[in-house]
Amino acid sequence: MVKNIATARNDFPILAQKINDQPLTYLDNAATTQKPQAVIDALVHYYEFDNANIHRGVYTLAERATEQYEGVRQQVAKFIHAESDEVIFTRGTTTSLNWVALGFGAQVLQPGDEIVITVMEHHSNLVPWQQVAQKTGAKLRYVEITADGELDLAQYGELLNAKTKIVAFTHVSNVLGTINPVKKMTEMAHAVGAYVVIDGAQAAGHFPIDMVSLDCDFYAFSGHKIYGPTGIGILYGKRELLTEMQPVEFGGEMINLVTRQKTDFKAAPEKFEAGTMPIAQVIGLGAAIDYIQSIGWSAIEAQERKVTAAAYQLLKDIPGVEIYGPQIGSSRSALVTFNLNGVHPHDVATVLDTQGVAVRAGHHCAQPLMETLGVSSTTRASFGLYNNLTDVKRLAAAVRAAKEFFQV
Ligand code: PMP
Repeated sequence: MVKNIATARNDFPILAQKINDQPLTYLDNAATTQKPQAVIDALVHYYEFDNANIHRGVYTLAERATEQYEGVRQQVAKFIHAESDEVIFTRGTTTSLNWVALGFGAQVLQPGDEIVITVMEHHSNLVPWQQVAQKTGAKLRYVEITADGELDLAQYGELLNAKTKIVAFTHVSNVLGTINPVKKMTEMAHAVGAYVVIDGAQAAGHFPIDMVSLDCDFYAFSGHKIYGPTGIGILYGKRELLTEMQPVEFGGEMINLVTRQKTDFKAAPEKFEAGTMPIAQVIGLGAAIDYIQSIGWSAIEAQERKVTAAAYQLLKDIPGVEIYGPQIGSSRSALVTFNLNGVHPHDVATVLDTQGVAVRAGHHCAQPLMETLGVSSTTRASFGLYNNLTDVKRLAAAVRAAKEFFQV
């Protein structure tokens, strides 16, 4: 059933409530999105009617649960234009990236090799590489940003060389909103023989992603940022690389044969999915993808573009507000990070909360980027498909109220 984006808000029961006597204006979608009724219903239905452990049972319920779980794997594969055995279920982007770093990076890196990441990485695409660099003797090198908050592609090109083994970067910055030219960056990395790992946490719910077109080696994202449940993430990997990659967790379900001293693992994706997986969350993720597709990418992209542009302009018009990241245009995604000069971001967010406006304040798990920007923290408003111009006007009015309150 095709749904209309103008009424999409009604599909999210949480948004109907009041917070501090004000309508809830939820603008923390980069942290996690709200869930449509269809996702909530899928979780409840699974627990009411289909709950059983997968892959093991020969009885009807277990078969039903397994069919649904594996069905979502196929659905995710289609969603990102991949093969279903290239889709691994994880706990989230963080787990996906850790598994690539530890299970693949640690295998292929030698002392003296180089890992290239960027200064705009979320800690979950930074700390694992630091750890692997320390373990293997590889060197971590950084792509810097320009004054506009875009990656410095010229400097990126200079960093790449025959020693570059792995290049890992975010598709969209969770602070600057920058949409990186990931296809071009992948081509450049492949030209020197490096493997490419992309953090898609801030991309997957906002526009279509296509593994064939991107041609990256690994791609990670989280269910909870694309209207699905928490506790479920995806790791895409090219089939031949998943064969080389080692599991990081060991246990039941991922083995062919265990003897006293040795274990023979199954092929991917099973070899990575040890123990009981988050089955309900996988099924909820399937419902989230159905929901996104029932609205359609073009409607989602148009709505988020409109809302982001309006937020950018309304905030820019407030004297004392400084906005970070690229101008409105093709390289900015659905968030606006800012500071109100003279007021701590936590204080801004606290005043906004009194107006029912939920935003995030802090370093956004990107401390090296904060250092580069010369700030310790910022305030971030981030948008989802259900946000509209009323939300943006409430945001701007609340920031003006904060300005008045703190007399800056
Ligand atoms: N990368 C980016 C760019 C993110 O914004 C986030 C979530 N804030 C993550 C990785 C981590 O995602 P998760 O917490 O779902 O593992």
